[in-house]
Amino acid sequence: MFDELKEECGVFGISLKKDYSELAKDLYLGLFALQHRGQESCGIAYYKDNSIGVVKSLGLVSGDFFEILPRNIESSSGIGHVRYSTCGGAGIVNAQPLSFKCNKGEIAIAHNGNIPNYEYMRDELIKKGSIFQTTSDSEILIHFMAKIQDKNFEDSLMEALSNLEGAYSMLMLHDDTVIAFRDPTGFRPLSYGEIENGIIFSSETNALDLLGAKNIKDVNPGEIIFCKKGSIRSKKFSNPKKLNQCVFELIYFARPDSTVFGESVYEARLKMGAKLATLRKCNPDIVISVPDSGNTAALGFSRASGIPFEFGLMRNHYMGRTFIKPEQKKRNESVRIKLNPVKSAINGKSLAVVDDSLVRGTTSRKIVAMLKESGAKEVHLFLSSPEIKFACYFGIDTPTDKELISSRATPEEIAKEIGADSVTFLTVNDLKECLSEPEKYCYSCFNGNYPMTIKSRCSDCVC
Ligand code: SF4
Repeated sequence: MFDELKEECGVFGISLKKDYSELAKDLYLGLFALQHRGQESCGIAYYKDNSIGVVKSLGLVSGDFFEILPRNIESSSGIGHVRYSTCGGAGIVNAQPLSFKCNKGEIAIAHNGNIPNYEYMRDELIKKGSIFQTTSDSEILIHFMAKIQDKNFEDSLMEALSNLEGAYSMLMLHDDTVIAFRDPTGFRPLSYGEIENGIIFSSETNALDLLGAKNIKDVNPGEIIFCKKGSIRSKKFSNPKKLNQCVFELIYFARPDSTVFGESVYEARLKMGAKLATLRKCNPDIVISVPDSGNTAALGFSRASGIPFEFGLMRNHYMGRTFIKPEQKKRNESVRIKLNPVKSAINGKSLAVVDDSLVRGTTSRKIVAMLKESGAKEVHLFLSSPEIKFACYFGIDTPTDKELISSRATPEEIAKEIGADSVTFLTVNDLKECLSEPEKYCYSCFNGNYPMTIKSRCSDCVC
């Protein structure tokens, strides 16, 4: 599944024992490994000569950003960000890290998550005289901090965080200190590990692997880590709350070579595929995946069922995302450009097609049509997520409830609508059986039980 449910953002940070001329290059590598989490803009902030320097660019990490990356800056500390935003908020002004000069000093922030009631809080602050630099929800934290009188930077941050409700795994740069914190319910992942000359932080462990990190741990929900010159000091800004880790990190967003929330993404997806195989009421000849997000679950399906796995769809990885326009017509065209059926593998066969999720259904309709045009006898679609019926307010760009196909149609109706012979979803209980600690996850987009009251949703601020 692609071009339906959008990735969110990724953050990466480095704190070294000594200044290092390759700091920007290492930040670049970290962001490169997190590119799947956001392709619309990227940037780094670093501490140098008692000030914070920021370099940002629209597009991919390997695009214009590479050209403007500062070479040979001697610095010990920096943070980086890759971003996906909804339409209207994708300009360079909202690209992160965001940097501010306020009564608490110079601060840069890189945020993965979403503050659901941001618009409401922003309006309240504007009424009281605050002036916002961006339309990003991430900025609200700086305003909360700046409003706190007679407290230093650290105490202001701790107090502001204790009042901030939402999804945030955030990195902050203040002087030469990198600060990492995760909201008390732990919606988004954030890990860190030791390298030879310091500490690195990342949304996903695959980026830590790239830089050779050892002793990898999660920043705990409600924990704040201050890291200066590669040395860690940890505090709690909130008591433990019921966890709401985003289960979609395991279903779709995170890379299979990452471990998030203590779970191997690869192993979790194999289990989801195996579980799907037990739900089948058809007898497909082969299992194929919708690449890349359906690959691991399809392998799990094939292993559990004994039905051979084939590469039935090939994906072109080399098309820039900026080419894809959001309008419906263009989205359909982009499926054709990205995926092509392998006719010799599927001709005359009944297919079990494994994908991660179904959002609007437009992409799946196109894929089913392509497979049938290429000679598939039957197309049975299997989704490793439960039916998505409700919008997400915690860092994933979902359409409104009304646009979600599962909010208005049963699996049988969906099959008819997209031209498939059958459509099978995992149930929430099936999904829970694939997780080692299911009680620690958020399932709001399946059941509509949100863990907080949603007063407003900012359409421009998925970070
Ligand atoms: S609502 Fe869905 S997508 Fe959003 S955080 Fe919860 S599980 Fe993840």
